[in-house]
Amino acid sequence: MIWRPTTLRGRVTLWYTGLLTAMLALFGGTSVVLLDQGLRKNLDASLYSVARTVAQSVRRPSSFGPDIEDSLQSMLGPELAERFFQLLDPFGRLDPRLAPPRRSRLPLSVEALRNAARGQATLETVPIDPRSGKALRLLTFPVVANGSTVNIVQVAMSLENVNAARSSFLLILLLLAPVALTGSALGGWFLARRALAPVDAIVEAARRIEAEDLSKRVPILAAEDELGRLSAVLNDMLARLERSFGAVRRFGADAAHELRTPLTILKGEIEVALRSLPARDEIQQTLTSCLEEVNRLNSVVEDLLLMARMEGNALSARPSRVNLAEVLQDAAPALSELAARAGNRCTVVPALPLWVEGYESLLFRLVFNLAENGIKYTPSGGTIEVTLGQQDGSAVLQVEDNGPGIAPEAQEHIFDRFYRGDPSREGSGAGLGLALVRAIVQLHQGQIHLSSEPGGGSRFRVTLPLARSASSS
Ligand code: ADP
Repeated sequence: MIWRPTTLRGRVTLWYTGLLTAMLALFGGTSVVLLDQGLRKNLDASLYSVARTVAQSVRRPSSFGPDIEDSLQSMLGPELAERFFQLLDPFGRLDPRLAPPRRSRLPLSVEALRNAARGQATLETVPIDPRSGKALRLLTFPVVANGSTVNIVQVAMSLENVNAARSSFLLILLLLAPVALTGSALGGWFLARRALAPVDAIVEAARRIEAEDLSKRVPILAAEDELGRLSAVLNDMLARLERSFGAVRRFGADAAHELRTPLTILKGEIEVALRSLPARDEIQQTLTSCLEEVNRLNSVVEDLLLMARMEGNALSARPSRVNLAEVLQDAAPALSELAARAGNRCTVVPALPLWVEGYESLLFRLVFNLAENGIKYTPSGGTIEVTLGQQDGSAVLQVEDNGPGIAPEAQEHIFDRFYRGDPSREGSGAGLGLALVRAIVQLHQGQIHLSSEPGGGSRFRVTLPLARSASSS
């Protein structure tokens, strides 16, 4: 299986290093070939220049003799002159003038001899030791006088130096390439990290933005680059979303507001009619059930309006310091009565005073809705316990019951508006109770967490930041 880096940073570094490896290989290969060609060209040029000098000397018989030996000695060095030079007659035999028997013979190919007879030089690469790969570069050069070949000069040089230069260049490349690659991979990783760091900041900021609060924006670190443009586009999108959400919210609030007045009138009229009507069973029963429905509608409308006000920060009251322990004690009698009617027992455990900054009536609704749900959904004989404590600078309110619990798939939705686990169940409301609870918790900058298992009861845990002076005291 091919390993693929999961981060963009890793992928950029891998691509960059791969590309650099390919470039280095191409550059290295081309350099080696060019170096080899250059060295060989130089070597061939040297061979030609030696051969021409010798040929000139041979053509002037007066200077031939010790002179040519000297010039060869100075040109090739004593050892090379001896080993890599020979003068032949036009038939390829050693010229006695310069051919002491100690000289080792250089090979003369048929083709070189034929070329020399035609007055053409021949350059060949002659292997001298097939096992080690050692070879000579051999120039067979005709000495032409009056239009015919009078002598053949053979000059050779070992290719060992060329091969050694190429090998050491290759070795340097192979040694330096991994160092250069590691260095540039590290550099590439660092640069990619630096270049992509703003992405992390954008991701972090985007993660903090919630549907309930779309007023936040992602940071624009550099307006003119790609990431700056991405941030600007994200912010535009957020602004459009905020406007749409605002419109939906306003629609809910306006609708609830418009429904409120006719419902109040309807309620008043039914109540008056009920009082003024002579006791006629059928009509009274109908009107009483109408009144119940109107009351239900009324409370839905009130809850929707309250949520709209909380979300729009349009509450008429101002926040104040509220003692949560007192709120619990205020709710206790009504909860006990409600529990008794359902055949359950609701215990509100007395707690030490804990102060939070907020709205007393809303905190009362919070406690009441949670405990009421526990009472409603726990079969008779069950127990509901409300406790209050303190942890890490926060008040911790817990409402626990030993009822049927909540299925995991329902847990994701119970805080949504109008969500009801089982609408046919007796006592279930309009599905706004927990939506209101969540809105109240958010308004107080708190958090709510549910732990529940089907058949194992439910525990709602609410944490609310303590009022500053109270937490420091
Ligand atoms: P409802 O008006 O239906 O009570 P809520 O928003 O208060 O609406 O609750 C939503 C759903 O969550 C309920 O219909 C119920 O299925 C489930 N639920 C809430 N509290 C509990 C609980 N303590 N035990 C079991 N189910 C619960």
